[in-house]
Amino acid sequence: MTDRVLIQTEHLTIEGRSRAGHETWFRVRELGVALDIGRCPDEIIAVPNVFITHAHLDHAAGIPFYAGQRRLQRLESGRIWLPEEAADDLRQLMTIHERMEGTDYHIEIIGMAPGDTARVDRKHAVRAHAATHRVPARAWEFLELRHHLKPAFAGFDGATLAARRRAGEVVHDEVEYPILFYTGDTDRGILEQNEALFRAEVLMIECSFVGDQHHERAAMYRHIHFDDIAEFAWRFENQLVVLTHFSRRYSRQEIRDTIRRRCPRSLIDRIRIAIPE
Ligand SMILES: [Zn+2]
Ligand SMILES: [Zn+2]
Repeated sequence: MTDRVLIQTEHLTIEGRSRAGHETWFRVRELGVALDIGRCPDEIIAVPNVFITHAHLDHAAGIPFYAGQRRLQRLESGRIWLPEEAADDLRQLMTIHERMEGTDYHIEIIGMAPGDTARVDRKHAVRAHAATHRVPARAWEFLELRHHLKPAFAGFDGATLAARRRAGEVVHDEVEYPILFYTGDTDRGILEQNEALFRAEVLMIECSFVGDQHHERAAMYRHIHFDDIAEFAWRFENQLVVLTHFSRRYSRQEIRDTIRRRCPRSLIDRIRIAIPE
């Protein structure tokens, strides 16, 4: 049985697999990105940009395999984005793998601090956010870069605009549209401290625990309990909220029933559960 899920949103196709302590990875085709890598399933090998939220093995174990497979398949070097605190350790780990295997791996390792923004491709940028967890962790906000004509050029025809651009004038403003926010592992601190997550078109947020007796456990291991999300229900402006990283102690049915019981009406229709039917 596979545990893979496929969630279609208005603009994104999200595929992946996510269970706490076991494995978490997602691929978002339209953005050309992977969110965490789990143990590196075949689907991720060809993805050029991989965003690791933190170094826990259920999220990051697949990095060396990704590098090795890309080399075997003669793909250009992939880019691993991760918390800056973990970047040097990963470089050393890759050096050890190279030594053990007598080979060179070409992956680009990009450490990001909270607040850092970088271009991912021609149309997209990423912003790193602090995530509250047991080890340094980043949440990733993906921004679509849209070009809006500057008001001063409103009504100009195409030929005129093209001429102005050739002459070196900037006729467009670049506007950032937050298309996806992925929290990775975190606790309710991110709901208390972060504004951006409530505004992205699609929010993917961890929800490790749903059970009545598991509030303390969630706090102790720095994870989110569904009641934390319910408490903030009125703040979510997102089109969809995808819940990820459920503990394996719960069946899909149990998760669905519990959420239906506890979720305020204003949010329930926008919730998706990242476990297949
Ligand atoms: Zn995890
Ligand atoms: Zn973790």
